[in-house]
Amino acid sequence: RSDSNYDYIVVGGGTSGLVVANRLSEQENINVLVIEAGGSVYNNPNVTDTLGYGKAFGTEIDWAYKTTDQEYGGGISQTVRAGKALGGTSTINGMVYLRAQTAQIDAWEAAGNKGWNWKNLFPYFKKGEQFQSPEKYSFLDGSGVTYDPAYHGFNGPLKVGWSSTQLNDGLAQKMNTTYQNLDVPVQFNKDPNGGDMIGYSLYPKTVDSELNIREDAARAYYYPYQNRTNLHVWLNTHVNKLTWKDGKDVTADGVEVTLSNGTTTVVKASREVILAAGALKSPVLLELSGVGNPDILSKYGIETKLNIPTVGENLQDQMNNGLQFDAKTSYNMSADYVSYPSAAQLFSNHTAVGNELLRKLPAYAAKVASANGNITKARDLQRFFKIQWDLIFKAGIPVAEILLEPSGTTYDTEYWGSVPFSRGNVHLSSADPTVAATIDPKYFMLDFDLHAQVEAARFIREIFKTEPFASMSGAETSPGLSTVAATAGDEGWSDFIKQNYRSNFHPISTTAMLPKEVGGVVDTSLKVYGTSNVRVVDASVVPFQVCGHLQSTIYAVAERAADIIKKQL
Ligand code: FAD
Repeated sequence: RSDSNYDYIVVGGGTSGLVVANRLSEQENINVLVIEAGGSVYNNPNVTDTLGYGKAFGTEIDWAYKTTDQEYGGGISQTVRAGKALGGTSTINGMVYLRAQTAQIDAWEAAGNKGWNWKNLFPYFKKGEQFQSPEKYSFLDGSGVTYDPAYHGFNGPLKVGWSSTQLNDGLAQKMNTTYQNLDVPVQFNKDPNGGDMIGYSLYPKTVDSELNIREDAARAYYYPYQNRTNLHVWLNTHVNKLTWKDGKDVTADGVEVTLSNGTTTVVKASREVILAAGALKSPVLLELSGVGNPDILSKYGIETKLNIPTVGENLQDQMNNGLQFDAKTSYNMSADYVSYPSAAQLFSNHTAVGNELLRKLPAYAAKVASANGNITKARDLQRFFKIQWDLIFKAGIPVAEILLEPSGTTYDTEYWGSVPFSRGNVHLSSADPTVAATIDPKYFMLDFDLHAQVEAARFIREIFKTEPFASMSGAETSPGLSTVAATAGDEGWSDFIKQNYRSNFHPISTTAMLPKEVGGVVDTSLKVYGTSNVRVVDASVVPFQVCGHLQSTIYAVAERAADIIKKQL
């Protein structure tokens, strides 16, 4: 370990942090230190096993954050999982590699983030990617996977493709036919990673197709580069807060850390401190450092360095439910099928649903604002909600995601409304950095979010009633028609959904990239407003939820952030 002065300190060696550290350390004269609370999981079978999803849950590499009892979400606390390891959450996630709809990234710019649009982000999706073309792997013959080479990068660090455990028995074709036979058909989408996600497809994952092991941020962005003498990583080291230079400007000069032996010390950074601790940690680290809402900070005896009351607000996650059906075939392989219906495909009366929602937006905005003491303003929320409404009902983004996973003699499904309107928050609950923060995502706060969840469940029932799937499956085992009747309305579904959902593990936006006057915490260079050298580069900055899953977008944002930082050198 070197105790020399570092140019950059990256707090959190996770999905985003390792991208930024890798790219900054491409410049030989720049010293980068990554500080990661977890250890190495390079040889951890719970990480590497491509069929091992969930094995790491509840182990020492899972932060397993707890939410408050959810007032609107069944009165229960939820566990929000996140990786505590070099590689961060990419070491425990579902490896799904699905981007976003073009219009959703364009909405970031429409909300006031100049230059943050699909056209500018698309090259960064490709820059990070090392797409492994399926035709090279004979085990994928008959699997039905397709892709468009124009949408992929082939020379980046992150391996994306399909694993050798992918089913190749023609199930994909039967699924596809089923989707075509629906009353409102859902078309096959050859490649959902080009910005148009609507339809049914077989998506790629972050896997090493050759070795059939998980690809994570550490395997992609750190281990092949670990011999760089200017790239330093401290593992098992917890960052407690930033330290500040004396003077008028708000300039960080380092971080206070607790080392694995329990010693607390300060490490200096001469250029910047980059927070990449994840959406449920980066805002709390800002608060512990005196950046946030003075009313909250003063409660814990923390002096306000910078008054940015929206730190920790705007928390957005999705809610995940599942339906299960008996399968008439037994499967011991995995398969990755996704469908993304639009509002017109999901809601039979979508015009009426849209009109009703439009009328409710002012009330939604007022409810969110009032729940956080008007820290986020109703007028701003209303504008953002209208942008979201336009995405759903005009631009036609996917309004739900449905995953189908054959497993043994069961067809498992998972589903969620893609873009819930509910907004919650995360805040520190003590000046002691080891004490858990208060996390309140406010799941199901707004009724459209439940409605989307219900319609997605109905849509799945429809699939299993449609041939050829109807003949391939047996009874619905969960929830089952005796628990939720075939004719159930939103009320009839509500108990099942609210007692059985989980976090979709996609928290974002807690230090949102937005103009300051509408509640932003970072500017378009991801610098915290009012500081000269503190940035946040992780899921915290993503202003609105994306369809697809988060990691591909987060990798791309981090790639772009690294370029922005380099240009400012
Ligand atoms: P992280 O990758 O979580 O990185 C933060 C890092 O900071 C961690 O390594 C953490 O240990 C470290 N850290 C935190 N606090 C401190 C501190 N005080 N000091 C030092 N270090 C600290 N997305 C997909 O695209 N596809 C999927 O299939 C998918 N499945 C998922 C399944 C699960 C179970 C989970 C939890 C998430 C899933 N996601 C998925 C979401 C996606 O993986 C995350 O959104 C993304 O990895 C987050 O990246 P990040 O850089 O914001 O944070």
